[in-house]
Parts: sequence; C-alpha cells; structure tokens
Amino acid sequence: VASGGVIKCKAAVAWEPGKPLTIQDVDVAPPKVHEVRIKIVATGVCHTDWEYLYESGKGMKSRPFPLVLGHEAAGIVESVGPEVTKFSPGDKVIPLFLPQCGECERCRSPKTNQCRKNWANMQLGVMADGTSRISYKNQQLYQFLGVSSFSQYTVVPDTSLTKIRCDAPLDKVCLLGCGVSTGYGAAVKTAKVEKDSSCAVFGLGAVGLAAVMGCQVAGAKRIIGVDINPDKFEKARVFGATECINPRDHEKAIQEVLVEKTGGGVDYALECVGSPVIMNAALESTAEAWGTCVIAGWTETETMNIMVEKILMGRTLKGTYFGGWKSVEDVPKLVDDYMNKKLKLDEFITHNLTLDQINVAFDLLKSGKSIRTVISL
Ligand code: NAD
Ligand code: ZN
Ligand code: ZN
Repeated sequence: VASGGVIKCKAAVAWEPGKPLTIQDVDVAPPKVHEVRIKIVATGVCHTDWEYLYESGKGMKSRPFPLVLGHEAAGIVESVGPEVTKFSPGDKVIPLFLPQCGECERCRSPKTNQCRKNWANMQLGVMADGTSRISYKNQQLYQFLGVSSFSQYTVVPDTSLTKIRCDAPLDKVCLLGCGVSTGYGAAVKTAKVEKDSSCAVFGLGAVGLAAVMGCQVAGAKRIIGVDINPDKFEKARVFGATECINPRDHEKAIQEVLVEKTGGGVDYALECVGSPVIMNAALESTAEAWGTCVIAGWTETETMNIMVEKILMGRTLKGTYFGGWKSVEDVPKLVDDYMNKKLKLDEFITHNLTLDQINVAFDLLKSGKSIRTVISL
C-alpha cells in the first residue's frame, strides 16, 4: 500500500541477537539516488541469516540491531530513484549481497568478484547516505548486507541488483541469490574442478549440495559427500555424489579415511560447513603435490591451525565469496543455466512457507530437516 511514497508492509524483524524474529508492520521509504525499491516475491533462508542472529558476537562479528535479515531472494522492481538507468518498474530482479559496480579496481580485474562498492555502509546495515530505508514507528531498522529480503518490500543500491529474464520462476531462482551460486561456483569457478578428478564435499546443506552439483557438471569422476547427518546422503546422490561418508562411522579422522579411500587424497576438497576443524580436515584430505581445498563455509572471528608442511608439499588453500561469480553479470547466466536444465534448483527446496512462519524455517534449517525453505511474501 503506497502512501506519500512510503510503502507500509510486513517484515520479520530481529530486535536483538539470539531472539526469534517477530512480524511487524514496517515503513519502506522511497529509493534515493542510485537506489531501487523492490517487491520481494520469494526468499530462501540461508545458514548465514541464522548465524548473524544466533551466533552474533560468537563465530560472527556483531551486527547492528534491530535488523531485517534475508539475503537470498528474487523480486520485482516497484520504483527507481534518481539516476537509476538499468532498471524499470516491473523488471524481475535478484538482489545481491555482493555488488558489482563495474568501475572499481576489483570489478575491472578478472581475478576477483569482490567489489567494494558501498561495502563499509552495507556492513553497518545502512545505505550510501548512512541511513536505512526500513523503519518501524520511526525507529530505523538496519538492513542486512544491503538486501533485507525478510520484508515484503526493500530498497537496494542499483549496483547490488541484477535483472533476470521475465520467464524465470522467482520462487526457484531466488536460491541463486546466495547458497546455490556459492556452492556451485566454489566447485566450477574457485576450485576449477577438472574432468575425471576426485572431489570431497564437506557439509551437505544447500551450499554443499550445490558444490556436489558443480563437481558433477565439471565432469568429476569421484564425488564423495561428507556429513554427520546421514539423512543428507540421499539428496547428495541426486546432485551427483558417487559415495557418502559419515565421519561418525569411523574411528579414524575423516581426512585419514579419505586419504586411504582415494589412495593419497582427493584432487579437490570443498568445505561447506563453516568450522575451522573441518576446514583443516578438508585441506588434509587433498592429495600432496596438487590438491586444492576451497573454503565456502563462513566464520569471521575464528582461526585455522594449519600444518605448514601440508602447504609446502604443493597443496592450495583458497576461500570463496559468492562462489567467485561477478554478481551482476553472472547471476542472469546462472538463471539461464537453470532454465536450460544445466543446473538444478527445485531439488534444493524441501519446504515452502509464508513470512509469518519464518522462525519455523530457522528451526528446520538448524535441525537439519530442511535443505532450503523458500518463503513466499
Ligand atoms: P546448512 O546448515 O544447510 O548445511 C551445513 C551442513 O553441514 C549440514 O548438513 C550439517 O549436517 C553439516 N555438518 C555440520 N557439522 C559437520 C561436520 N562436523 N562434518 C561434516 N558435516 C557437518 O548450511 P548452508 O546454508 O548450506 O551453508 C553452509 C555454510 O556456507 C555456512 O557456514 C554458511 O554461512 C556458508 N555460506 C558461505 C557463503 C560464501 O559466500 N562463502 C555464502 C553462503 C553461505
Ligand atoms: Zn547466504
Ligand atoms: Zn566494483
């Protein structure tokens, strides 16, 4: 409902860390210069949303609260602010927690996707002018990574948004806003998995399953899924895992099991859990001389203890942010890949819920019962 440019709508608000979200009637201000207001149609619920709420100040840096979480979404442009040239009302779009301004040094380099446009402000939960566009009874609600998709409407910078084809189903392609793109890219773009290689994927949530899918698309011969929750194994096989291992079924450390199983270690290991201990296990499960370990799992304040000799003997350790994709230009291509059936999305979606059930979605994620819940707004 528009009134004087402000839209009144529902949003799930995180009032303080560690507490469930509450649904509130919020005001979403019109977009300012180089900003776009979008109607969120569907949003996934990612592990990172949960972590910023429940692990704030633990494995994660503290964020400003009250906060509107959500960063894996798809929607429709409602209105555009001054100087916006690339978007018009009615466009189907995916908001991006990683911008691509196209102009900064990093955007001009093919070596990285890590654009820094608006970075500092987005980490502080505000837009370029230092304020948020979402408020509750005149109290500012901070935005999350420049997105905030747990709201029926939000405002994003025009460099944190990409236009997608009009026939794309938004309740599916929303997953390309984070988890699936991250895991898939971790395999095909950051690790650059090769044909006939052997791979191990640690953690079989959406990010890990997408990594498994990437290994398969790249033509890997052996794809070993590793998870302490064996309920994930069936899905992993759907995405291309050739075998699955539960570390808890073995006396030996998982890296030793993998090195033995593969006669020296895997060519590629992908960490999709977010735990330094698993990161180390992933690195140590790769083959001497050329093994590559890519970390996709997230933690901001913990450190990893690496045996230097592992690296000296020719292994490579890399991290990936958003799967290495240049967000604005690559996400529409991933949408095409889905529409052309090169990439699976539907299989990630285990639950469909509404915004008022958002805390249920967190419970499903945390208990390991869901891969992705898609929330319709
Ligand atoms: P998820 O909770 O759905 O999946 C995590 C999986 O890891 C679960 O299946 C769980 O059973 C498994 N696991 C837990 N402990 C394990 C262990 N000791 N050994 C093996 N498996 C174990 O989470 P998700 O949404 O798939 O996200 C995974 C990670 O990726 C999170 O840390 C998230 O924050 C991170 N992430 C990173 C980026 C990025 O840009 N790098 C983007 C999105 C998400
Ligand atoms: Zn995410
Ligand atoms: Zn840039």
